[in-house]
Amino acid sequence: MQKLYESMGISKEVYEYSEKIIASLKSRFDEIDEIAEYNQAKVLIAMQKNKVDANCFSGSTGYGYDDTGRDTLERVYADAFGTEAALVRPQLDCGTHAPADTLAANLLPGDELLSPVGRPYDTLEEVIGIRPSACSLAEYGVSYDEVELLPGGEFDFEGIRRKIKPNTKLITIQRSKGYAMRPTLSCERIGELISFCKSIKPDVICMVDNCYGEFVQRYEPSSFGADMIVGSLIKNPGGGLAPIGGYIAGRRDLVERCGYRLSAPGLGQEVGASLDVKRSLYQGFFLAPTVTAGAVKGAIFAAKLYESLGFEVLPAGDEPRFDIIQAVRLGSGEALCAFCEGIQAGAPVDSYVKPTPAPMPGYDADVIMAAGAFVQGSSIELSADGPMREPYSVYFQGGLTFYNAKTGIMLSLQKILDKGLIKLS
Ligand SMILES: *Cc1c(COP(=O)(O)O)cnc(C)c1O
Repeated sequence: MQKLYESMGISKEVYEYSEKIIASLKSRFDEIDEIAEYNQAKVLIAMQKNKVDANCFSGSTGYGYDDTGRDTLERVYADAFGTEAALVRPQLDCGTHAPADTLAANLLPGDELLSPVGRPYDTLEEVIGIRPSACSLAEYGVSYDEVELLPGGEFDFEGIRRKIKPNTKLITIQRSKGYAMRPTLSCERIGELISFCKSIKPDVICMVDNCYGEFVQRYEPSSFGADMIVGSLIKNPGGGLAPIGGYIAGRRDLVERCGYRLSAPGLGQEVGASLDVKRSLYQGFFLAPTVTAGAVKGAIFAAKLYESLGFEVLPAGDEPRFDIIQAVRLGSGEALCAFCEGIQAGAPVDSYVKPTPAPMPGYDADVIMAAGAFVQGSSIELSADGPMREPYSVYFQGGLTFYNAKTGIMLSLQKILDKGLIKLS
């Protein structure tokens, strides 16, 4: 094994250091396997109950009327996530489009949207109109308010109570930390927040941006009171096979509105051809529990490895996990670039290219990104990125298998060592 890794440029020193870390993670990894086994059974039961068969995989074109494979897939998602209904479509372009559609479908002029967990993910700022943007909710007369988390990451219950007004129609809760330095929320904590909000305004709709969280725990936020959960198929639930798509799962009346907004009033979920992607959506969903487990193991390995070398990591190596993202505060631009070069070198696609920092719309600093993916932009695949500014944190995620994540992480350390930025003790 060590010889093979050496042929990839990983020194004996790095390999042996990594093996020691992994040996210490055995019981942690066993727990993750148990979660994967539970989720695998859940997905399998949902597929069997809905009698998935070969006909489900055949594509539809044009309007996509009577696409029973599409409708069955939506029932599979609904059953696996414990919801009344689901909208699972290639026409939902990405993880921004799914919540954007949900918000636009369920908020009307005069309604207010509240985020009780601080600022939402960057791309949603323009959807909401926090940053002025054409066709934002703000342009349609939907107002927005937010309550920051308290410094320790706790909910500011008093602040939330004050900000739930008679016209607060919908509450958006982001499960993952995204690119913020705050803790990711467990389903249990999300449940606590939702019951608090509903105790103040029982008819308020609670939506959870579930990106990066699917299958990390045994349940989804829909089992903890969320009226709708939304996410991207080129993250966890697509299992690395889905080439495109998003999902919205939740209460039937709310999901139906999302269907009308996605296509057109009167048409709704009845239209929407699935072309030739259904087999990958089914098979990806089937693999998603184990693919996600591999990504979680990779994140824990990265945390433990870099923590042992004195870097600040979020979450810490021993903390429980509620999403697949690992942040490492690398402290210098050189280390950030070296880390990303290592991840790139460990990818199955485009491994020969060297990532370099470049300007990105919406960011105030250059950003460096490493990704060598089968599906463009897919972040359930091995990937890392970070803005070139203090504190030079990298956000690492994915790897379709734990072994690929492990290779990428070992190479990231190798590149940092090769540049003489640290020494292995
Ligand atoms: C990735 C992500 C999004 C946006 O998804 P895109 O596919 O990049 O549009 C939204 N919210 C969260 C929490 C995410 O992690």
